[in-house]
Amino acid sequence: MPKERLYLFDTTLRDGAQTNGVDFTLADKLAIAGMLDELGIDYVEGGYPGANPADTELFATDRKFDSTFTAFGMTRRPGRSTSNDPGLAALLDAKADAICFVAKAWDYHVKVALETTNEENLASIRDSVKAAKAKGREVLLDCEHFFDGYKANPKYALACAKAAYDEGARWVVLCDTNGGTLPDEVEKIVGDVVKVIPGDHVGIHAHNDTEQAVANSFAAVRAGARQIQGTLNGLGERCGNANLVSIIPTLKLKPEFARQFDIGVTDAALKKLAHVSHALDERLNRAPNRHAPYVGESAFATKAGIHASAIMKDPATYEHVAPETIGNRRKVLVSEQAGKSNVLAELERIGIKADKDDPRVSRLLEIVKEREAIGYAYEAADASFELLARRTLGKVPAYFDVTQFDVNVEQRNNAKGDRVTVTMAVVKVKVGDDNMISAAEGNGPVNALDLALRKDLGKYQKYIAGLKLTDYRVRILNAGTEAVTRVLIESEDEAGERWTTVGVSPNIIDASFQALMDSIIFKLVKSGAPA
Ligand SMILES: [Zn+2]
Repeated sequence: MPKERLYLFDTTLRDGAQTNGVDFTLADKLAIAGMLDELGIDYVEGGYPGANPADTELFATDRKFDSTFTAFGMTRRPGRSTSNDPGLAALLDAKADAICFVAKAWDYHVKVALETTNEENLASIRDSVKAAKAKGREVLLDCEHFFDGYKANPKYALACAKAAYDEGARWVVLCDTNGGTLPDEVEKIVGDVVKVIPGDHVGIHAHNDTEQAVANSFAAVRAGARQIQGTLNGLGERCGNANLVSIIPTLKLKPEFARQFDIGVTDAALKKLAHVSHALDERLNRAPNRHAPYVGESAFATKAGIHASAIMKDPATYEHVAPETIGNRRKVLVSEQAGKSNVLAELERIGIKADKDDPRVSRLLEIVKEREAIGYAYEAADASFELLARRTLGKVPAYFDVTQFDVNVEQRNNAKGDRVTVTMAVVKVKVGDDNMISAAEGNGPVNALDLALRKDLGKYQKYIAGLKLTDYRVRILNAGTEAVTRVLIESEDEAGERWTTVGVSPNIIDASFQALMDSIIFKLVKSGAPA
């Protein structure tokens, strides 16, 4: 049986831009649109031309995307004609392949928010769709508050959707704007709608206020809708929108959907999904969610020893899909409960050959257990584990030696009489026979130490030029009688590869120094720097 086409509509750049703390520049928008296009998303909603300078400029820019680039805006204002509405004019003039109008579909909102009549709202929908079609645009209508509106007045909500469809809108999108509708309600209501409007013209736009935006999207598809709207990583105001990063692999890998539907995302593009998800976080300067389904660092991580040995024999025993299909990877955690099989599995993953009867493997396991007992966290710090393993089993060259460091924090009045805190670090490093001294100022002691340490490593400098810290986390632990500080540092190199290192000490500077050293040495090992 031929498969049906299911369409994906991304609104990261419009609805996702409503997220607290998210502010896309024009360059951000173009880069993200490019990623979505490469991924194979059918529709990319760029923004709201006329609403802000960045969006206006975006829709004045020439772009070359296969995706249908969509502009968002309101239907004509009540009481005005389409030719006498500046907002609508800006939308119609925007360089866009499609226009997505938003209109009220709940009679209560028509009365209270729009302060107009039900009939005038319907006329506004009809006139706006007609005007956009006349401009040669594909047209979509977002029916705002559709589900709440349908519960209050099903006839009127349907009339709004039908008005757009009858006028030639390609899609009528049912929005759960408040995000409180549950999957069984969505399935029932969409089922009613597709009796009036064919399902291959009906879309779903779900918000995540009951943590069911993804489930609601699938409920709508089950009932007959054939377009899903969502955002990358579930970005969006309040609790977010339906997460396309979870929806896409489910559609591709779960037989219930994969057997029935084709989507624009190819198997090859699916392999880039984890990367796309992390690249968006990178742009937003956020640490990726480790527990994100499919793409998170922990999505295919296993802890207990007994599971680890089974996973090495047959991964399908503990994995619902193969991690490689979405560009993620299997990870066996080394931890307190870890058995030898965990350690062996982790060694195999990082490319270190070891015999299970090698006494050094038992020694490594012992060291890991001892160090975890005093606060080290190797399951979070993969790079520190790898260095420890390489040191125990083989060799890590002594690239350089930090013979001394000094960190100074001073609070004083500056020339203007303002109170300022100034931090400076001085590091003495020995590389081969060369002794070097570097000094740096930073916004805090760890930052200053990091900058001084990476300022001049002589012949190794070129290997660490692209190294940067992307995250720094501190926790105070109560190990035995005294409190210790655990520092986790996440680093990234020029290729976008990330790793985490750990340091533990009663002194926060000392703990940070250990983690910084591990990060630099890990980068040198990874780059194959000569001893
Ligand atoms: Zn929305």
